[in-house]
Amino acid sequence: MQFLLTPDQQLFRDSVSTFVRKECPPDLIRKLDLAGEYPQQVMQKMAALGWYSAFTPEDMGGMGLGPLDLALMAEELARYSPSIASAYYITMWGVLNLNLHGTPEQKSYYLPRVAAGSQNFSFSITEPDSGSDAAALRCRAVLEQDEWVINGQKMFCTQAGAPNNTIILCARTDTSAKHGGVSMIFVPTDAKGLRIQRMSTISRRMLGTYELYFDNVRVPRGNLLGEVNKGWEYILGHLERERMCVAAGSMGHAKQVLGEIVEYVKQRKQFGKSLGEFQAIAHVIADLRVQVDCAELLTYKVAWMLDKGLPCGPEAAAAKLFCTETLVNVSMQGMRLLGGYGLTEEFPMARAFRESMGAVTGGGTSNIQRNIIARSMLRA
Ligand SMILES: Cc1cc2nc3c(=O)[nH]c(=O)nc-3n(C[C@H](O)[C@H](O)[C@H](O)COP(=O)(O)OP(=O)(O)OC[C@H]3O[C@@H](n4cnc5c(N)ncnc54)[C@H](O)[C@@H]3O)c2cc1C
Repeated sequence: MQFLLTPDQQLFRDSVSTFVRKECPPDLIRKLDLAGEYPQQVMQKMAALGWYSAFTPEDMGGMGLGPLDLALMAEELARYSPSIASAYYITMWGVLNLNLHGTPEQKSYYLPRVAAGSQNFSFSITEPDSGSDAAALRCRAVLEQDEWVINGQKMFCTQAGAPNNTIILCARTDTSAKHGGVSMIFVPTDAKGLRIQRMSTISRRMLGTYELYFDNVRVPRGNLLGEVNKGWEYILGHLERERMCVAAGSMGHAKQVLGEIVEYVKQRKQFGKSLGEFQAIAHVIADLRVQVDCAELLTYKVAWMLDKGLPCGPEAAAAKLFCTETLVNVSMQGMRLLGGYGLTEEFPMARAFRESMGAVTGGGTSNIQRNIIARSMLRA
């Protein structure tokens, strides 16, 4: 067993880290978050570096990187903001799904646009009456001659309002089967009959969370991703990659927040001593360090499994559960240890807490991850 990255991986990681410090500094993050503004300029700079073709196969002009690289990237991009990491990896999920299930026409249409930074993606599974029970979705897509006609409502779609966005819609194409009646369809956000409405949430404010209303939206038959009624199968694979990314982003941000807590308690003096000299505070710091280290191990384990093509449903669930709950804990402890200052926007603790609550919920709540882990252990 070895924990060392290859020289190429280390180099790539270092370049992402340098980029983040230069192009996504805390002042910019605070501004974008408070304004609820999409980080399009940051994303354009990433595209200029070729990072939007990082996960496109080499024979299609990309870098052909794998899941471990994506985890490292999510971890580094999330240093000052998990939303910056999310903006990038949500679009990369579209690329990964295209690589696996897309037609040659779909790949040659979307991948160059993604590479140029002029194509975003969103994923839409959740509906008003189907959240944790995602396969109960009802948004209906019916094939009429050469077009899919879509009717229904979706909830909580992250970055649906981003520039040049296409939604990867999970819709019901067969009402006689639950899991076996779901398909994935590309729907551009400027499609006639689609209304998108921003929700007011405390998390991922720079990306926005949206409700979607489909009223006889028509898209070409060729917008189907993969095979009809295979959508649930694709969602299960997609969720492993999604959970790895959310775990990596939460862990990367928790590391940074913990670093800032340590600096603060070393400098802040009360009763003639620095806060870190009080054992009650030093022990909290030690416990947080152990949690962040465990979060790192769980993330790298699932990233390694995905890299090797191994099935990893429970491992992805464990990483997502532990890393997101670690971010909740680190940010909550940060707010306590910084006293009143922890509640201001001057320090990142309150924003990290808001982001952590989005992370524990999106991609399946902590209870749903526990259900997946328990099911894998209790199965007869
Ligand atoms: C910031 C954010 C971004 C999101 N982005 C997207 C997106 O881009 N695309 C998308 O499709 N969705 C997205 N979602 C939706 C997210 O996936 C759902 O909110 C989540 O799956 C939970 O569904 P729900 O909100 O309907 O809650 P419910 O399913 O109603 O759950 C409510 C509570 O009951 C618990 N619960 C439910 N069932 C069980 C059970 N069987 N056992 C134990 N406890 C249970 C849950 O853990 C939760 O605490 C996002 C959500 C958030 C907050």
